[in-house]
Amino acid sequence: MDSKQRIAVVTGGNRGIGLEICRQLAQLGYQVVLTSRDEVQGLGAQQRLVAEGAEVGYHPLDVTDAESVHRLAEVLQQAYGRVEVLVNNAGVMLDDRDVLEADLDIVRATMETNVYGPWRLAQALVPLMQQHGYGRIVNLSSGMGQLSGMGSHRPAYRLSKTALNALTRILAAELQGSNILVNSMSPGWVRTDMGGPSAPRSVEEGADTAVWLATLPDDGPTGGFFQDRKPIPW
Ligand code: NAP
Repeated sequence: MDSKQRIAVVTGGNRGIGLEICRQLAQLGYQVVLTSRDEVQGLGAQQRLVAEGAEVGYHPLDVTDAESVHRLAEVLQQAYGRVEVLVNNAGVMLDDRDVLEADLDIVRATMETNVYGPWRLAQALVPLMQQHGYGRIVNLSSGMGQLSGMGSHRPAYRLSKTALNALTRILAAELQGSNILVNSMSPGWVRTDMGGPSAPRSVEEGADTAVWLATLPDDGPTGGFFQDRKPIPW
């Protein structure tokens, strides 16, 4: 590994948009650490990228498990002594009901992955960014979390993405001036297991803005919400 190579951690990297973010970051020369909660799936995805010529490492990570997040931070500290990029991609859409019928246990489980997961990762990895005065954090949000266009159905998912956007704003405010830039993005409706086969966008299109935000120059934006590399309303 080139010692100047930037280290990029991607959560939920075994499939969908996360796998494509790993691929694109590796193509740009980043040392990618692909993570997944299922080790077999994750190692399979890593091997596919390595076979394509990408420089990609692997580490297991369940974003809902504090111990798992702590172990990842320790391994990164020991292996590289730093991390430059965190892409909080892992997400779940567990509910398929309207708000009055919602199961609050499902709401809690959704928040655990989609909000507390990225929060835990930030707590664990921002200190490694602060040591070197450089960091890029990208939170995979959704148009379904936009307050300005809030609609009905799937309230747990919607709420989790609105909360994730708030986390982006709070983190960005607290890290102002540290050269750690924190942004949310919406990939649009993408053909993945979550998006389904009728979605109009490819994973390449879905990953593009996340990769752009992960590789921002020092004078890039922070505390923003983007789709197709352009700001969108909260
Ligand atoms: P996906 O195909 O369902 O993949 C989700 C990924 O998250 C999988 O790798 C999954 O791992 C992982 N994951 C779930 N829970 C996890 C946990 N506790 N710890 C670690 N990893 C976990 O979804 P996608 O479409 O690629 O979506 C990626 C992100 O984009 C999500 O945050 C999603 O909300 C957002 N998004 C997607 C769309 C869309 O149209 N597809 C639209 C807007 C926003 P397993 O394989 O182990 O389940």
